Parts: sequence; C-alpha cells; structure tokens
Amino acid sequence: MLTHPITVTFDVFGLPDDVPKLAEKRAVSAMKGMFLDETARSAMDQSAIIYEFHTLQTPALPTELAFGISTCYPGRVGGEYFMTKGHYHEVFGCAEVYICRQGRGVILMETPDGQWSAPVLAPGQAVYVPGGWAHRSVNIGKEPFVTCFVFRADAGHDYRTIEQNGFRKLVAERDGAMAIIDNPRWRHL
Ligand code: MN
Repeated sequence: MLTHPITVTFDVFGLPDDVPKLAEKRAVSAMKGMFLDETARSAMDQSAIIYEFHTLQTPALPTELAFGISTCYPGRVGGEYFMTKGHYHEVFGCAEVYICRQGRGVILMETPDGQWSAPVLAPGQAVYVPGGWAHRSVNIGKEPFVTCFVFRADAGHDYRTIEQNGFRKLVAERDGAMAIIDNPRWRHL
C-alpha cells in the first residue's frame, strides 16, 4: 500500500522500476473477435502488441485511486485502427479521467441507453469519462497514443459486455481519413 506521497515520471513504456505496479500487454492474439475483420486479425502476427498499460499498485478500495499510463500502438486491422478492448466499470457509475500525453487518438464512449461520444485527443487534452459510460482508446495517428488515467481503485473492469456486444460505433480509416461508422455487428445489451 502506498502510505507516502509518490512522484512518478510517466514514460511511454511504463512506470519507473522502483514503484509497485502492475503491467498488462495485449497482443493481437488477445483481441480475437474485437475487430470487425476477424479474418484480417487472424492473419496478422499474433504476438504483435496492440496496447499495454501500467498501473500503480494501489489497494482496491473506494478511498484509493488507480493511476497509470496506457499506450495504444499505431496500426490497423482491416480498416479499423488499433484500439483497447474497452470496458464498463464493474462498479457501475465510476468515472475516469484520461489525459493525453503523446500521439493522437479517440476516446470512444457509449452508454447502455444509446448515447455515444468520440472526442479526438492530442497532447495536453483530457477527457472526463462520466460514470456509466463504456470507454475505449483508439490510436488514429502514426505514433503511440499515450494517455494517463485516474479512476476509483475498486471500480474494476467489465470487459465481458463489450466482448459480447461491441461498441455501437467503430473508428476506421475510410478514403485516407478517420471515420466514425456504425458497427454492423453491434448487439443491444
Ligand atoms: Mn476504465
């Protein structure tokens, strides 16, 4: 448990060695079924890393904060940009802040009742993800899309809802430009 204030220097490739942290990397193999073009995904190098995140190891308590850095690498599957799996928080209604540090990306968000939002973030910009909004990072640029995040430490991750239903919208390249398109495979909750 962190019992004293801690200062970290965020780095694209993670947190410093001398702080307690958790790291997770998701390769192409871990993203089965997440992209529209599963044929294209299955034909790719399965070991290529699509995104990774590093979190300070804080207790899962409502009084604590999860605090870390997320890096989504540049690339596409079919026309769809590399992205994170996306999730609701298990403790439904917990909000989150993402602050863009490097690159250019979209924070794709939606609610169970059909609202959606897809702001583009550049370095220095931040988004407040309200409680009850699913969220996913999408890299629409040519360099890593790096964000810092903060949310209630016991909020948890509900990945299953998005794995089963997808997001209503996809972020894809169309005619050389970023486009937000309807997800033909989206299923209602
Ligand atoms: Mn979250």
